[in-house]
Amino acid sequence: MNPADITKQAQDIEHEHHLPIYRRYPITLEKGKGALVWDYEGNEYLDMLAGIAVNNTGHCHPNVVKAIKDQAEKLIHPSNFFYTKPQSDLAKLLSDLSGLERVFFCNSGVEALEAALKIARKYGNNHNKKGDIIAVERGFHGRSLAAIALGKPKYQKGFAPIPSGFKTIPFNDIEALENEINDETIAFACEPIQGEGGIHEVSGDYLRRARELCDKHNALLFFDEVQCGNGRTGKYFGFEHHGVKPDMIATAKGLGGGFPIGAVMANEKAAQALDYGDHGTTYGGNPLACAASLAAVRTILDEDLMTQATEKGTYLVKQVKEKTAGTDYIKDIRGKGLMIGIELYFPGKPVVMEMLEQFVISNVTMDTTIRLVPPLVITYDQIDRFVDVFVNVLEKHG
Ligand SMILES: *Cc1c(COP(=O)(O)O)cnc(C)c1O
Repeated sequence: MNPADITKQAQDIEHEHHLPIYRRYPITLEKGKGALVWDYEGNEYLDMLAGIAVNNTGHCHPNVVKAIKDQAEKLIHPSNFFYTKPQSDLAKLLSDLSGLERVFFCNSGVEALEAALKIARKYGNNHNKKGDIIAVERGFHGRSLAAIALGKPKYQKGFAPIPSGFKTIPFNDIEALENEINDETIAFACEPIQGEGGIHEVSGDYLRRARELCDKHNALLFFDEVQCGNGRTGKYFGFEHHGVKPDMIATAKGLGGGFPIGAVMANEKAAQALDYGDHGTTYGGNPLACAASLAAVRTILDEDLMTQATEKGTYLVKQVKEKTAGTDYIKDIRGKGLMIGIELYFPGKPVVMEMLEQFVISNVTMDTTIRLVPPLVITYDQIDRFVDVFVNVLEKHG
């Protein structure tokens, strides 16, 4: 089949047979390398979205590819009735990185959230708590029923009845924290940097107060690091910027270098809420996923992609600011490392679509915020290429 037919057929079949839930870009991708992807017709795109903050080590990093190939030839999936070396090695590595002793492996961000929420509920049950799991407005935690109950109302619409026992309070509002957290509260949950919600960072003061209040009222402090973790913001985990240690974190996205894997990390206090048989998964933590993840995490550490994220993020923001000085397109630039939100004074969707025509992949969230979460291995030349296209497109739409 010629490339144009492959492209069209894949799109036609999707329209006919996939659940009608994704508004996709009109591109059929064939391959990727670093911060670049190619469609079947050979068009090259600069990927500032990175599989939605997944490919922190870039598309098809050689270390990740090799780990998957090697492991696939040995053992792909034995179930959690057995021990495997990749799973145990990854558990130890993540425990060292997070400072939280215990891990549960699953296959996605939302499964990590679901597991963490079950740990929290069991902890609450064990302590006879009658209160809520409290989260922060505009948060996003995935698409299971419990995760949408925890997150922003947009994703709850049409799915009533929404599970009870969850409550959201205003963002970065210390007084609201103080008013809501009491002895009945089971847990407080937030993203250290909100991703889907428009790249908003909670303040260090807010996190520190949350830690104090959770300690005072014997509630669990839980950070959703699914998007901001794994080196993206310049530290391995987002919470490290503020030195506030949580009781649990959820991670996924960048954890597997593109391979699906998620994890909950918990300290002993949270982890001991569970007994044998309280939770489980068939695929979670299988050696293929864990081998891919070990390679991805070690690459982030060995190639010091955290420092690169900080330096490249600073460079990108500086270039955008310089090239748009004196214009009135940009309302705010937020974020840390290579987790950047550029809020415009006008809708971002046309900007994203126009950039796509100039072979740059990006994304808009909260209508007006361009979300940039490129691979941490992006080059400076590629950042320049993005800035040129972005500024050019803003000039047309601003
Ligand atoms: C993407 C995301 C999730 C859900 O992860 P999935 O792998 O899509 O289930 C949860 N929390 C945050 C902060 C996310 O960005």
